[in-house]
Amino acid sequence: MSGDFLSTAIEYLKGVGPARADLLKKELEVFTFNDFLQHYPFRYVDRSQFYKTDEIAADGAFVQLKGTIVDIQIEGVKHTRRLRAWFKDDKGEIELVWFQGVKWVSEMLKPGVEYVVFGKPSVFKNHITIAHPEIDLATESALNTQVKFMPVYNTSELLKARGMESKQLSKLMRTLFTEQKYFAILENLPSSIRTQYQLIAREQAFRWIHFPENNEQILQATKRLKFEELFLLQMKLSLLKVNRAKANRGFVFDKVGDYFNAFYNQKLPFELTNAQKKVVKEIRNDMRLDKQMNRLLQGDVGSGKTLVALLCILIALDNGCQAALMAPTEILAAQHFASIKELLGDMPVNMMLLTGSTRVAQRRKILAELSEGTLHLLIGTHALIENEVKFKKLGLAVIDEQHRFGVEQRGRLWNKYEGTKPHVLVMTATPIPRTLAMTVYGDLDLSIIDELPAGRKPIATYHRYDNTRHKVYEFMRKEIAKGRQVYVVYPLIEESAKIDLKNLMDGYDMIESAFPRPQYRTSIVHGKLSPKEKDLGMELFIKNETQIMVATTVIEVGVNVPNASIMIIENAERFGLSQLHQLRGRVGRGAEQSYCILMTSHKLSREGKIRIETLCRTNDGFEIADMDLKLRGPGDLQGTRQSGVLDLKLSDIARDQELVKTTRYAAQQILESDPKLNLPENKVLSDYLTKNNHGNLWSRIA
Ligand code: ADP
Ligand code: MG
Repeated sequence: MSGDFLSTAIEYLKGVGPARADLLKKELEVFTFNDFLQHYPFRYVDRSQFYKTDEIAADGAFVQLKGTIVDIQIEGVKHTRRLRAWFKDDKGEIELVWFQGVKWVSEMLKPGVEYVVFGKPSVFKNHITIAHPEIDLATESALNTQVKFMPVYNTSELLKARGMESKQLSKLMRTLFTEQKYFAILENLPSSIRTQYQLIAREQAFRWIHFPENNEQILQATKRLKFEELFLLQMKLSLLKVNRAKANRGFVFDKVGDYFNAFYNQKLPFELTNAQKKVVKEIRNDMRLDKQMNRLLQGDVGSGKTLVALLCILIALDNGCQAALMAPTEILAAQHFASIKELLGDMPVNMMLLTGSTRVAQRRKILAELSEGTLHLLIGTHALIENEVKFKKLGLAVIDEQHRFGVEQRGRLWNKYEGTKPHVLVMTATPIPRTLAMTVYGDLDLSIIDELPAGRKPIATYHRYDNTRHKVYEFMRKEIAKGRQVYVVYPLIEESAKIDLKNLMDGYDMIESAFPRPQYRTSIVHGKLSPKEKDLGMELFIKNETQIMVATTVIEVGVNVPNASIMIIENAERFGLSQLHQLRGRVGRGAEQSYCILMTSHKLSREGKIRIETLCRTNDGFEIADMDLKLRGPGDLQGTRQSGVLDLKLSDIARDQELVKTTRYAAQQILESDPKLNLPENKVLSDYLTKNNHGNLWSRIA
């Protein structure tokens, strides 16, 4: 019984019942005793101390006072009706005020009797006032003095209206601990771990986090529960990886044959960087084993991931398999198709492009050749994951800019195969701080390209205000005269946002008049154009027939025009750090010095300033990602949404980076010495995992 105790539905907690349970579910996502236990206080109020009225600083901190009511007045009518009471101790007087429940409070308050008052003071017309304080007879509150540290819980307006304020939630919590018949909180960490990391017992931790008597207990409890939270996450990720390796045997790519060698020896346009060599080797070794590869390839923009992908694709072909390359936009898919075709030259690789705008006849041809196996390489967009797209023998699926795809979309590319599943290589240019990668992608193997091709000059980044635009234009003219090309990017965060579109069109007009035809030519690309129009604008720019590209963030991802050396970002304060870095990465791809100019108005938020300064200071994607994580928290980072990282109740991936590493190490230690968790001392853990192996972690990339 006790094992299932915590999964009891919350309505069975004494004092809850069906109606309140409904609210707890809807408002707080509390369904079970366990959920309720994990509804942790977000802060504590120290009620062991009494302040004097002359010690109050109206700085937002709660205070507790003891004294008597000397006068009561009711003022105003209807909406302005309020009750003012003067409260006094041996040091002075302050005002208490109620705007609601005036009648009830006025009947309750008795002058001359000693009260304990608790609330948040503010200054109003030169005197101190506390609105809607908690007020108890001093004798009653003396009875409650066992609550020294009062926990404060998140609640909601609806819950409050039904009598479930923080205080009541705390009472219900006490009921759970003291009045439920089968109350038991089982340990889930092996004792070796608890000893090594000095963690208190699970039940003790829950008691102390909800009913602490001092700060030390809060610290101990938080330490233990945070550790547990991150440790269990790491455990699940590691197990997922182990189980998947067992369940999914992979193709064994043990040959490096004609395709790879011919390309490597005759077609490779430049020496690979050491980092490229290193990751190709890692991937090759992985695909040689009898297990399906699931690998994340991280490399800053411009680090040459496409070439790495192509080399891996050639290995798949050498081993009699087909390969797929999926990109998030048509522009990018088309560009991959074109550049890979050019790289391969006259090599006998049958490759085709499949996107939403592929014509029916061509589509039919593709599908036929795919299932016959005569089509070697299929490049495309989401169109690749449609059900009717069936390969004869898909050996490798490469997914570019993977954060643009949902987890489910990715899964569909290979889950439709009943036989051997293809190896999967997902690539991203969004640098993810290592600790975040350990959690968001903890079940994938990681390869990192940490070096840019030689000869690249770091992009010089500057901040300029809108009113100096004419100087920026002058600079553009000079660079264009040298044969360079320029991007001018506008925010269009919501593709439907009319104002953004108007800004973009105004910007386009401004550019057209400052850079008149026929001397200059300008392309424009945004989400409201048809794919054809977009492609045309892009193509003209790629061929250097237009020198300026006015665009929205549709060009953010992957587009490669080495001759473009200036990136101007309008309203730069409206972009996130990672996005700015991605945009900047569109330039600096050729041998010339490249520039990124961040345009803003003079009005800048503190955070906006930090973002701009960070970008001007560094080109290092990882440093930028770390700052991004610090500024925004993991919730906004791309890729974290479906990962389970957001379900963390106590930990914060940005603040608790050390603990992420520690718990990952601890989980790996346990699994290394006891892969199946068979040892008696690990039984508490395996029991817990068996009971709790639900949740989205287990349904990820199968
Ligand atoms: P990303 O990693 O951002 O996808 P790309 O694969 O688009 O980068 O490569 C960026 C540019 O660098 C391309 O023009 C590509 O041809 C070039 N490139 C790739 N590898 C090398 C290398 N080893 N040496 C020189 N240039 C390279
Ligand atoms: Mg790329």
